[in-house]
Amino acid sequence: MTNSTEHSSLRPDGKPLLGVFVAGSGTDVGKTVCTGALLRELRQAGFAVQAVKPVQTGVLAAEIASSPLSDARVYGKALEGVESLVGLPAAAVLHCFGLPASPHLAAAKEGKRLDCQNLRKDILAHWNVVSAKAFLLEGAGGLHVPLNEDEDMLDLMSMLGLPVFLVGGNYLGGLNHILLSVEAILHRGLSLAGIALVPASDPAMGCPGVDVAGLLTDNAHILQKKLERLGCAIPLVEISRVEKLDQAGWEKLACQLRPAAKRIASNWPTAGQESSEQLSEEESLVQRDRSSVWHPYASATNFPPLNAVKRTFSNRIVLADGKELVDGMSSWWAAIHGYNHPRLLDALHAQAGRMPHVMFGGLTHEPAVALAEKLLDIVPEGLERVFFADSGSVAVEVALKMALQYQQSRGETQRTRFLTPRRGYHGDTIGAMSVCDPVTGMHSLFSAMLPEQLFMERPSCRFDQPFDPACLNDARQILAMHGKEIAAVILEPIVQGAGGMWFYHPEYLRGLAQLCREADTLLIFDEIATGFGRTGKMFAAEWADVRPDILCCGKALTGGMLTLSATICSGHVASGICQDGGVFMHGPTFMANALACAVARASLDVLASGDWQQQVNSLESALREGLAPCQNLPGVADVRVLGAIGVVEMLEPVNTHSLQKFFVKQGVWLRPFNRLIYLMPPYVTPKEDMLRLCTAIEGALRQGAHLS
Ligand SMILES: *Cc1c(COP(=O)(O)O)cnc(C)c1O
Repeated sequence: MTNSTEHSSLRPDGKPLLGVFVAGSGTDVGKTVCTGALLRELRQAGFAVQAVKPVQTGVLAAEIASSPLSDARVYGKALEGVESLVGLPAAAVLHCFGLPASPHLAAAKEGKRLDCQNLRKDILAHWNVVSAKAFLLEGAGGLHVPLNEDEDMLDLMSMLGLPVFLVGGNYLGGLNHILLSVEAILHRGLSLAGIALVPASDPAMGCPGVDVAGLLTDNAHILQKKLERLGCAIPLVEISRVEKLDQAGWEKLACQLRPAAKRIASNWPTAGQESSEQLSEEESLVQRDRSSVWHPYASATNFPPLNAVKRTFSNRIVLADGKELVDGMSSWWAAIHGYNHPRLLDALHAQAGRMPHVMFGGLTHEPAVALAEKLLDIVPEGLERVFFADSGSVAVEVALKMALQYQQSRGETQRTRFLTPRRGYHGDTIGAMSVCDPVTGMHSLFSAMLPEQLFMERPSCRFDQPFDPACLNDARQILAMHGKEIAAVILEPIVQGAGGMWFYHPEYLRGLAQLCREADTLLIFDEIATGFGRTGKMFAAEWADVRPDILCCGKALTGGMLTLSATICSGHVASGICQDGGVFMHGPTFMANALACAVARASLDVLASGDWQQQVNSLESALREGLAPCQNLPGVADVRVLGAIGVVEMLEPVNTHSLQKFFVKQGVWLRPFNRLIYLMPPYVTPKEDMLRLCTAIEGALRQGAHLS
């Protein structure tokens, strides 16, 4: 089994990465000198701090100690006269490139490519072996300095999640760079630890007639006001010019940075409270939650286990105590691109600045129109009209109402019921619940008010076995008997999700579609779980090449960032409802929310780049390989994989709580239910993380964590 701390931000002893990221508002603003002075001040205050440079350019590895361009050399000098610490050098440089250029260029020159995931791993690997209490991580240049063509320093910073100490140049125009940097840092959800204003040799930047003293005072004043408005109570340190960086010079700078250093160190637990402090933060959140919040499918008095989450990135969920979990759920199958995807975040920010929301009655906007167009491009042909709603369940309600109104409009007023296979899941609102499996859907609790629908056998023919036409007999019989009462048949194509994670044969869908045509009833596909690539096709309907009359999508529509769903119908259904002045009677307040539409559009753009197919294919292989060892373990009924879905079905219901505890200990996030332990990881999950997810399941079954 892989070591669970291997890629975690915790040391083997459970200590999370501590420190600050020192970033500049640009190149040459005095970031390295400030890092050196902070290092000196913190060391003198008794903290075993190390300056860490993830990437150093302009210096050959052999010349780290001597090159005038080497930051490590500067850090060494900054500690002159300070007692050195055994086994803890002033600085560490993780990557070194000779070309004095941006990291992406300097690395490329040597045939290498830097990326955030690996840089982060290198930083954590260093954290695991060095005896430092905290790191001062120094970036290279400004926040958006590229690490490769897609990622920059800010991406690395947001993956690390450390507070940021910003160093800005105090000169004409410098304030602009600092404010832009502050905005970028806060938009990524990072906290500011402090700001240092460093004087330039020519604050007037060559402009004649500048009142330099006035300019410098005003820069600090405006910045202070801005920080107050943002609610950032952080030290703003004005550094004065030091002519000579000798021991006395360093000491002077260290003194000036003392308030900032104090503030930075105040977030580090002292020896006694090391992890208990962090834990209590999580515990107190869970406690507050328990006195005010209700969780899904849970008791409000007899509390299930609960984990507090601090942040997310890529395929990771970071808990309040710093523990990092590999996500195997995509947050209920929605976060297909992983968390905090930069393109989705950019779309969200841009739309938020422009127009977060307007009512959709009588108004329209570009994000909604563009999203509808993009959806119509990728759904099965014949679907022509998009109705936006707020969640999957509501999309299903809308689909049911569309079917009912369609039948009314053509005079088939007796068609008021729906036919659906057993073991389906379509949501938790009343109408949607009425077409869920009557047993697992808890119909008994609500039977008094649920409309009574017609249920047929679930599609029994496995996806991976030869098709048996007999599996359509039940559908055929019911349609023959009740066809005239049925407004529509509704089902999840190919994969029945929450009702049992069951994969069935595409031929069933083709046969069912034919039966629907013969019975003159509509066919509704609920693609809320299967849409957007999860099964290996953009929509599961493509496996059977069947076109439904109505299709619902949701969950992954916004890449998991915001709630949005769409019910998409054929031109035939739309024109039927609207004939003779008819209108469709539904209109949620937040219909086509512009933020959600903008993010969904960005998510479809990411899908359109085409990487998802390759990603889902490799997840499928990883799942087949990784789950195969579970096949022969005692208690296992079946192991099946389709696209980026992996299922271990047990003979008996599992103990979800004890399994979840086990999984969190192993550093993975899964939420088994009933007899099912299943995986629906984000498409971006790396192979090694897939292995961790699968091994965690195997380990749980071997150790009996599902039984206790
Ligand atoms: C999750 C789901 C729903 C309900 O969606 P919500 O957004 O939770 O309301 C409906 N149908 C299927 C197939 C689902 O997986």
